[in-house]
Amino acid sequence: MQSEPNRCMLKQFCKKGHQLCCNFIFGPEKKRMRLSTSSETDSDKSINKMPSNANAKASYIKTMLKTADAVCFDVDSTICRDEAIDELAEHLGVGDKVAELTKKAMSQKNVEYKDTLRARLNVMKPSRQALHDFIKRHPPKLTPGIMELVQELHNRGTQVYIITGGFDSIVQEVAKELGVPSQNVYANKLLFFYNGDYAGFDETQLTCRSGGKGRAVKLIKEKHNHKSIIMVGDGSTDLEAAPPADACIGFGGNQVRETVQREAHWFIHSFKELTNVLQAAA
Ligand SMILES: [Mg+2]
Repeated sequence: MQSEPNRCMLKQFCKKGHQLCCNFIFGPEKKRMRLSTSSETDSDKSINKMPSNANAKASYIKTMLKTADAVCFDVDSTICRDEAIDELAEHLGVGDKVAELTKKAMSQKNVEYKDTLRARLNVMKPSRQALHDFIKRHPPKLTPGIMELVQELHNRGTQVYIITGGFDSIVQEVAKELGVPSQNVYANKLLFFYNGDYAGFDETQLTCRSGGKGRAVKLIKEKHNHKSIIMVGDGSTDLEAAPPADACIGFGGNQVRETVQREAHWFIHSFKELTNVLQAAA
């Protein structure tokens, strides 16, 4: 065990945070981090190493998929075929109003996700009972191939996480069906008054903020010391999560978003493409 004075001496040399200095002393893995003089993160480095040619890039991601510590999935139009908030709004009889608000939000620039979520929920005002009824009547519409893919990842010991701007109580049903532990779900939480009426949502959740998926990935990395994480999703918020995710695989099995198709490190139309890669590696 190093003494406190030694830690302080190193701190003077590396000019980085105290924790990083301590890591330098105790672990060879962290020593590699200390030697980096730029402000790049490990994720930035993985992404920077990626070939620019589309085929070479896809093959790079395939290799990364085989060795990743974790894969994070979006839910709406990715794990599930539909968008839960639209379905819930329909169930509550305000589908058109909410669709209009969603359309308006998508056309606005620099709008906080939290604000658009609040606006839609203020129209929907789902009570605890209404939410319960919705979950009962709308079992998750899983995208073909997701079950096999998650099973394959679990068999290999790869951690699976769910990161979504959707609602925890709905998403937990999805997680249950896929065998993903409840603590691996990062989603928004609805709040209710004692009588079950809608009271708002937990605004401290990372997933209700713009850029929240990236923050969730960063948290997962730090919490579990994962070195390599891949984000899979259909939307621009999934793209934005890489980095800190080491790569983004765009998913176009339900919706093809032009930006995601163009900018994802690899774009797929079926989960079978990922399962095949993993099974070929076995
Ligand atoms: Mg989505």
